[in-house]
Amino acid sequence: MQFPPKIKIPQITMFVSPETTLLKAKYLVTNTSSFSPQVIVDGAVLIEGNKIIQVGSQNDISMTTDYVYDFGHHVILPGLVNAHSHAAMTLFRGYADDLPLQEWLNDYIWPIERKMTKDDVFIGAKLAAAEALLSGTTLFNSQYWHPSQEADAFKEVGVRLTCGPPTLSGMAKLTFPTELISKYHGKFNDFVRISMNPHAPYTVSPEGYQKINDFVAKFNAQRSEHTPPMIVHTHVAEAADEMMAIHAFAEREGFSIKSEIKTPVQYMDSIGALTPFTLAAHAIEVPANDQRILAERKVSVSINTESNMKLANSVAPAKEYLNLEMNVGLGTDSACSNNALDMFSTMKSTAIVQKGFFKSAVRLPAPTVLSMGTVGGASAMGWDNIGDLKPGYYADIVAVDLNSPHLRPIPSEKTLISHLVYAAKGSDVTDVMVGGTWKLRNRNLMAVDLPTLLEEFETKSLDLLSR
Ligand SMILES: [Zn+2]
Repeated sequence: MQFPPKIKIPQITMFVSPETTLLKAKYLVTNTSSFSPQVIVDGAVLIEGNKIIQVGSQNDISMTTDYVYDFGHHVILPGLVNAHSHAAMTLFRGYADDLPLQEWLNDYIWPIERKMTKDDVFIGAKLAAAEALLSGTTLFNSQYWHPSQEADAFKEVGVRLTCGPPTLSGMAKLTFPTELISKYHGKFNDFVRISMNPHAPYTVSPEGYQKINDFVAKFNAQRSEHTPPMIVHTHVAEAADEMMAIHAFAEREGFSIKSEIKTPVQYMDSIGALTPFTLAAHAIEVPANDQRILAERKVSVSINTESNMKLANSVAPAKEYLNLEMNVGLGTDSACSNNALDMFSTMKSTAIVQKGFFKSAVRLPAPTVLSMGTVGGASAMGWDNIGDLKPGYYADIVAVDLNSPHLRPIPSEKTLISHLVYAAKGSDVTDVMVGGTWKLRNRNLMAVDLPTLLEEFETKSLDLLSR
């Protein structure tokens, strides 16, 4: 018997279009990316796969979709963006409060961090991700040790993350996390990105900054169109005595600083540390001339009001940065210096502290602050399709229940934006979608059992604190 000849059957690939989902709600916030958010009454957003394809009024979007979710008397808005934090520091929440910055770092935080393991970081980051999701944050920026554990934790809970290990002087030799980058950067449907994180100008040498910036400049120049850009995330001009700390550091490390350099920003500029891919956290002690330097170098900024107030570090010139057309986002900083990761609280404190400190009630109105808390942070972190409900943007969407005494009345669209900034709390968030997939439904985490997480976290953190 003769067998038929072996032939290769051509593969038939069927084009399966991604699922479509329609979200409807009484109110929908759009146009944050123009910094003048608008409210659509009886709004709808149409999602295909992980992206938004249409936004408008429910009458305008009439398409048969695979799924429809009607949120009734809710507002749906873009997910909030936490542009500066240290995720796994949830482990030390409440551990060392009411202390000056340098004493807090040198005597409390750095000694206990030396005893911390990868497992501790994983559970600490998982708790941070759960806290972020439950308060409407869909993109988070973390500078912390063991970034692969942080990335795995955030991926599991369902919050996008930019992360990377801090670089400090005295670390054996500056090495670049090439394995981490190839495993995580832009992977998992762009859920995780890796950043470089020189800690601060008083802990990282000029040579350290230069090597890191050269590495990132080369990476960004050579990346393919499918690979997202990388940022350099560093603390700058956080405290009034930072220039003194830089001088003391220079003396220890044996490098000199020119006598005409008077401020951290001038110093950073003199060593070539300010670039379009720099995200400067804090940027408080920045006089007008230095603000122009930051703007000329196209540096982005994260304003972290609650941490700055708690550590008695004054107030950043946020409005001046916006006037100079810089990317300005908002961050909580860590659960040690805040002590919560609630971006609704951060929006409110930023708005009211800016007004009080600069003695101007018209400074940073609610629509501006909502834009900073969404698209401002995303742009500062180098994500150009996050922070608005617009076609082409990732479907990172938050639903807030308006059926609460503190969120009424709503006589106008303007009032609604005010409520989101001045009256809403993270706990008003009911549902969160990230990349077109529900991660929180009716305040239930979809991927993680919260009581189990809390118990595991409590055991691990108490064990760490007793080491
Ligand atoms: Zn920080």
